[in-house]
Amino acid sequence: MLINLTLSDIAEACGGQLIGENCVLNAVITDTRKITSGCVFVALKGERFDGHDYIGQAVQEGAVGVVSDRDVDAPNYVKVVDTTLAYGVIARLIRDAFKGPVVCITGSNGKTTVKDWLAQSLTDKNVLKTRANLNNQIGVPQTLLELDADHDVAVIEAGTSFTGEIPLLAKIAFPDIVILTNASGSHFEGLGGIEDIAKEKGALISGSSPNASIILNADDEYFDYWCSLAGDRQVYSFGFTESADLYVSDIELSAESSLAVFNYNGGAQSVSIAGAGKHQIANGMAVVLAMLVMGIDFKQAADKLATPVLVSGRLERLKAKNGALLINDCYNASPASVEAAIDVLAIQPVEETWLILGALAELGAQRDDIHHGLGVYAKNKGISCLICVGPVASIAGAAFRSEGGNAIFCNTHNEAATVVRPLDKKHAILVKGSRSAKMENVIEALIN
Ligand code: ATP
Ligand code: MG
Repeated sequence: MLINLTLSDIAEACGGQLIGENCVLNAVITDTRKITSGCVFVALKGERFDGHDYIGQAVQEGAVGVVSDRDVDAPNYVKVVDTTLAYGVIARLIRDAFKGPVVCITGSNGKTTVKDWLAQSLTDKNVLKTRANLNNQIGVPQTLLELDADHDVAVIEAGTSFTGEIPLLAKIAFPDIVILTNASGSHFEGLGGIEDIAKEKGALISGSSPNASIILNADDEYFDYWCSLAGDRQVYSFGFTESADLYVSDIELSAESSLAVFNYNGGAQSVSIAGAGKHQIANGMAVVLAMLVMGIDFKQAADKLATPVLVSGRLERLKAKNGALLINDCYNASPASVEAAIDVLAIQPVEETWLILGALAELGAQRDDIHHGLGVYAKNKGISCLICVGPVASIAGAAFRSEGGNAIFCNTHNEAATVVRPLDKKHAILVKGSRSAKMENVIEALIN
């Protein structure tokens, strides 16, 4: 840990009550399997477990202090109102002791891609980054608590699944650099309409350090709104329009990558961008702009985009047994990411492009309209065949068919896999759906 905290530091920061003796803590632990001698155990309440049930075990195994929301049988503990909030407050104490910049990324799409791409591009720095997709009220503190004296930069992903989560994460991470990729229709169920989503994401700007640099997507409908939230903070914009501080020109899209020119401050750099699609160019601009803000040379920053960012389940290129190109984008789906993935499918140099679509979740009342729209979008992009798995995805299939396309309706992953199994190298197959649609079962059936 970056600094040694004491139980009374925690009590003071959380507005809690210290019961027992003050003691110095060498780690902050929430999982009893990871208890080390001298740590503080924070009893978090999850969906399936309540950490309060494990306090006795934690103390027995070496925890010298406990953070709890009730009186407990432990020698030294801090009693707080909410242990999850306390966990964030403790992480903020560590964050405040960190001298390097904290970069925080939010937005509806591309957070993990930008996070991993930026982290891997900072080759001469020791970077702490969010592991996988641990971007919530537990994951953000957990990451920050890993900061140590050797780290130069922290690159943190901030996600949201309920209104008010980003303001909490901003308080915990208190970013020096904010990257807001975009606002698009995702998580409608937890957050309301697109305006509510833009507002929620914008809370990372208003909650950032007063000296923070704010990196925004100039093409987003809510760009002006986010600029207004920045106040005196310096805004840096990226986009496909010349009005952006970093703008792209001379784009050449191809199946696996793109070529383009990035323009910034009167200078221009040719870039080779690993990963297909315009969305990846936007992500690449956000990465380069963050590096420019950190003082890295323009050419050096731009050259980093030639190295692919490999995030499994995101437009991952595989080969099906019979030779078809299989594009695995099963990790998750929002309307914008389905469109981005269809754009990539549409430019593959094959005779036929097939899309296997599972349902998109969390769309609330907009669910049917959005699925309908995606069916029309796929047809307009010239997709050869749309296979829908399950009744919700079938709304997209019906729209695709009503536009004159060939749609096939399946009830199970296996049925869909059986339909495409004979396809050979003249075909590209994109498989996509929300996490809950478990479309990776189709991929497994096709490669094993
Ligand atoms: P989550 O909310 O699930 O954490 P995320 O914002 O971290 O998602 P990524 O994991 O980086 O997003 O990307 C998920 C998918 O979204 C990718 O496979 C890609 O198809 C699509 N995507 C990535 N970047 C963009 C973008 N800028 N615009 C639209 N779609 C994108
Ligand atoms: Mg993510």
